[in-house]
Amino acid sequence: MHTTAAILSTGDELVLGQLLDTNARWIAEQLTTLGIRVVQVAVVGDDLNDLTAAIARLASTHDLLITTGGLGPTAGDLTREALAQASSDHLIVDQEQVNILSTKLRNRGRNVNDQQLRQALRPTHATPLPNAHGTAPGLCLRIRNCDTFSLPGPPGELQPMWLASVIPTLHPDRKVLTRLLYALGIPEATCAERLKDLTARARTPLIGMTASGGIITIRMRYEGSDAAEGQALLDRDEADICTRLGTNICATATAGQTHSDQALASVVLNQLTHRGEMLALAESCTGGMVAEVLTRTPGSSAALAGGVVCYTNAVKTTLLGVNAETLANNGAVSEPVASAMALGARRVIPADWSIAITGIAGPDGATATKPLGTVWIALAGPNAYLQTRHFHFPGTRHDVRTRSTLSALAMLHFALKGAPIPKLLWQQDA
Ligand code: AMP
Ligand code: MG
Repeated sequence: MHTTAAILSTGDELVLGQLLDTNARWIAEQLTTLGIRVVQVAVVGDDLNDLTAAIARLASTHDLLITTGGLGPTAGDLTREALAQASSDHLIVDQEQVNILSTKLRNRGRNVNDQQLRQALRPTHATPLPNAHGTAPGLCLRIRNCDTFSLPGPPGELQPMWLASVIPTLHPDRKVLTRLLYALGIPEATCAERLKDLTARARTPLIGMTASGGIITIRMRYEGSDAAEGQALLDRDEADICTRLGTNICATATAGQTHSDQALASVVLNQLTHRGEMLALAESCTGGMVAEVLTRTPGSSAALAGGVVCYTNAVKTTLLGVNAETLANNGAVSEPVASAMALGARRVIPADWSIAITGIAGPDGATATKPLGTVWIALAGPNAYLQTRHFHFPGTRHDVRTRSTLSALAMLHFALKGAPIPKLLWQQDA
């Protein structure tokens, strides 16, 4: 049984702060979803003694150890040696791996030198794991009572190896099911109040929430022995939460789909596709971010007609037909200009709906009456539907742009549901 696990990320670049350890995050999420409790995540530089000590320590306290990195051909790749030392073993040349490596290298037109062949070394009692996307094989071995898997550092090699060679050998002692719900247009405190009894700490499923960038993520988690029971409990609680929060619930997601903006984009696209309607965009300030988030979802062209990235007044007037006087009288960041941009976008790009965004992302460009983070968003739709909202977003240039993007999608989400747009986070009173 694999009850507890540790993750050991290796590499000088990680301890020097030059690279973010995304492998540990990914593996931890995978293990958690599988029902194996991750107890420790450690990071060690490319030093043989440090690596050996960390492997020996973690393998003596857990059922499962996953290491990443340090399997390549360079002198800084020391995981093989460390595994051998930590398990009182020595390295041998795996002849089959020599053959596989030689073929791979020759196919890529590269030399098969001694340095490259280091990747074919393994502790005597270790099993190589095939690497379908690179040269370095992974390794699997038992150190004391701990099943140890060593995987290469590049995520594009690690992840397929994990799915193909590690997951099938794992034995979780329980099931863990997670589900995410996203809520919009409701203050976090109000959401917490409405869900209060559901969020008790000792409850099954466990329900918690976090707020970020104007969207609330409600996290549901079942841990137990019976997956069918878990699904039923999650279904029951999800229905309950949806009743309590109504149209404020915008999307649901399962493990792995953890980007709230993308979850919202997918929902909006589905709604549009279902209705057979198209969307046009006119983006200043966000410079195409709305289009980018929408087009991350495959099949988005069924609902996204196109967009105009419009920064200068000339583009706003010539391409979108915004009146030069409207611009001169109100400034580019204003309600009349946002409305004219939305209506103009729908004229030049035949579509049912259009979103226009105009704002001051900073760090320059603020005026006395229009502080940094001032953004106007307009949404135009069928039957002369036209809604505008005025926001004052806090944060960096990046924050202002991502919050504008999310708010624009939120407005469209409510409109497509036929619901009034509630007051969104950072929206200014009319
Ligand atoms: P290595 O397997 O040590 O040769 O690592 C090769 C490359 O994999 C590094 O240069 C990084 O680009 C990537 N990499 C290694 N470790 C990690 C990690 N923990 N998270 C994300 N990328 C990593
Ligand atoms: Mg390395």
